[in-house]
Amino acid sequence: MSFYDGPNDPIRLSTYFGKKGKVFPAVTLIILAVFSPLAIKNFIIGEYPLATAISLFVLTFSADSYALLRGRKLPINEHIVASLAVLAVTLSLFTLGDGTIFWVFPVSIIMSFLFPIRTAIVFNLPLLLSATIYVLLNYQVADAMRLFFALLMTITVVNLLLRHIDSLHELLKEESSKDALTGALNRRQLNLFLKDALANKLHYHNDSTLIMIDVDHFKQINDLYGHAKGDEVLIRLASGINTQIRESDLLFRVGGEEFVILLPNTTVETAEKVAEKLRASIRTSSLIEDHPVTVSLGICATDNNLTQTKWMSCADKALYAAKQRGRDRACWYDLNRDRIEDVAA
Ligand code: GH3
Ligand code: MG
Ligand code: MG
Repeated sequence: MSFYDGPNDPIRLSTYFGKKGKVFPAVTLIILAVFSPLAIKNFIIGEYPLATAISLFVLTFSADSYALLRGRKLPINEHIVASLAVLAVTLSLFTLGDGTIFWVFPVSIIMSFLFPIRTAIVFNLPLLLSATIYVLLNYQVADAMRLFFALLMTITVVNLLLRHIDSLHELLKEESSKDALTGALNRRQLNLFLKDALANKLHYHNDSTLIMIDVDHFKQINDLYGHAKGDEVLIRLASGINTQIRESDLLFRVGGEEFVILLPNTTVETAEKVAEKLRASIRTSSLIEDHPVTVSLGICATDNNLTQTKWMSCADKALYAAKQRGRDRACWYDLNRDRIEDVAA
């Protein structure tokens, strides 16, 4: 499981604008509308190598764009599509001449948008070289230098801008998935992972278990030691839990002093052991000097035909029972018998 929703697309444009956005389909349509007639025209005027290169580009680009819009794996490696684009522009330069120079700029910019930075630079270099060589062979050295630096500046500025957008994008993903105080994942992420875990149970029979945790008498902690100390307890509690759970287990903050741990591929028996270990260690961890901080925990495992709401509500009921039965304890919801059991200390 990854921390963020959605796969990491190799195609940058779609990562930015989302599959359901209008920008990627619009750019795809523009590219097809411009290049398809060019391919046909070149077949008609007998420029077969150029016509073939453009046609192959249009076909491979269409296949990949369609797969991307449908959320499928790309059928054609994106480097092949980019190579065909560079080949088409280069052939066009040397067969059709001057007019093609104008196309070098948009093709270079589109490639920068489509690919990760390194790949974009790798594919922009042959474009830069072939355009410069073309001008050098047909005009003055000064003209070739002008083109070289104009294109180089375009590539550099576009890539610097995209780099900046990339880092903002990463930051935004990070900020929108985590709770600001404790760094635990937020509720929105929980919903995504619960959905994943339920689908995993249904399709692959993989059990996942939820542990809901609520700090006991937290209001009292705030009242006695102040809100700032309360915050510090929450931060240390979250980091303490994180160090004790596995890398694949996920910690979410779902309320003021309420957390949820999702343990993928974990049965209720194992989750009981984890919950009990956490309960005991929090009790003895002296989060506040001379004031034991304790937590109550509610456990519930996945089951077929369970909804997210029902799953959370069963874990919540188990937590409520733990509170009712004296706090500083864990209870688990037995879905088969519709009963709440104590976890042995
Ligand atoms: P119980 O054992 O039944 O869970 O009692 P409790 O006092 O923990 O529960 P209650 O729901 O009455 O109080 C929760 C308190 O948590 C009240 C609220 O002021 C405090 N709280 C919520 N969010 C934060 C926060 O971000 N920081 C701090 N310091 N306190 C918070
Ligand atoms: Mg509480
Ligand atoms: Mg609470």
